[in-house]
Amino acid sequence: MSHKKVVIIGSGPAGLTAAIYTARANLEPVIFEGSQPGGQLTITTEVENYPGFADGIMGPELMDIMKKQAERFGAKSIFKDVTSVDLSKRPFIVKTDNETYTADSIIISTGASAKLIGIESERSLMGYGVSACATCDGFFFKGREVIVVGGGDTAMEEATFLTKFASKVTVIHRRDALRASKIMQERAFSNPKIKFVWNSVVDEILGVTEKHVRGVVLKNVVDGSRSEMKCDGVFVAIGHQPNTSIFAGQLKMDDAGYVITRNGSTETSVSGVFAAGDVADKKYRQAVTAAGTGCMAAIDAEKYLGSLHLQSD
Ligand code: NAP
Repeated sequence: MSHKKVVIIGSGPAGLTAAIYTARANLEPVIFEGSQPGGQLTITTEVENYPGFADGIMGPELMDIMKKQAERFGAKSIFKDVTSVDLSKRPFIVKTDNETYTADSIIISTGASAKLIGIESERSLMGYGVSACATCDGFFFKGREVIVVGGGDTAMEEATFLTKFASKVTVIHRRDALRASKIMQERAFSNPKIKFVWNSVVDEILGVTEKHVRGVVLKNVVDGSRSEMKCDGVFVAIGHQPNTSIFAGQLKMDDAGYVITRNGSTETSVSGVFAAGDVADKKYRQAVTAAGTGCMAAIDAEKYLGSLHLQSD
């Protein structure tokens, strides 16, 4: 059994920034990279809003650079999923399928995953006209027609944001009433560029052979009829799922499963366990805010470890 001062779970911008800071502080962190190393940025294409890259940078490349930066200071990666943790014991226990580690502190940066429709054409056109992030990819649809799938606040927010670029935005919703808050609904209804198609789901996204979206096949869930609709982009906005199942019952979370942190800090309900990035943030969800909270978690962990040291002196 190997003992670590800092275990970081998750390797998106939050985890890698926490790794850079804790490694520079000589805390010799290990990062469990998980099943999607690099996190959500590895499924986007070009990132144009991360400060420091005037010409933009591809998402996977940005994560690669962050990782090299963390490794330069001695951070070590483990290419495994954490399968369980025990936060009730000190040191904490972190397990993979075949190994057990103990840790004085843990930084949780397991992120959130956009919920997807779950059809094959969505998977193969992801990054080629299909996106789950309007803030990341909306800019590429200047003067184009796009659809937004979903009826919640995220869908209304994304649809409204996309009208800055797109010539037409059509919201496809599976019911005849929105789930979104009244104010967000009103904003969308009053926007002349936004149209609604009710009681409908996306059955297929067209353009797999061409490698770019050229339309969708919609299915009316009331009468079962199918119709084709031309569009250049598909934004899936049916919610996010924080990746917190392994912490269930051990940390305070909100109703949607996001880890609750103390205001202005990354401290969770368990002393010595910190949370950074989308796993604790359903509001901003940006690479730069994730990196920012990753830095905060590293500083919080360093202070916590220092206080342990003082206690044992
Ligand atoms: P949400 O409230 O859960 O809404 C998800 C929407 O997607 C619902 O309309 C749902 O339909 C639809 N949907 C779910 N699965 C689907 C599927 N497989 N196929 C088609 N449609 C599907 O999620 P959210 O909009 O991401 O919001 C999450 C939380 O963040 C909410 O509490 C929200 O208020 C908050 N939020 C707030 C703001 C803001 O205030 N600025 C912005 C974004 C999010 P049904 O309605 O039929 O279930």
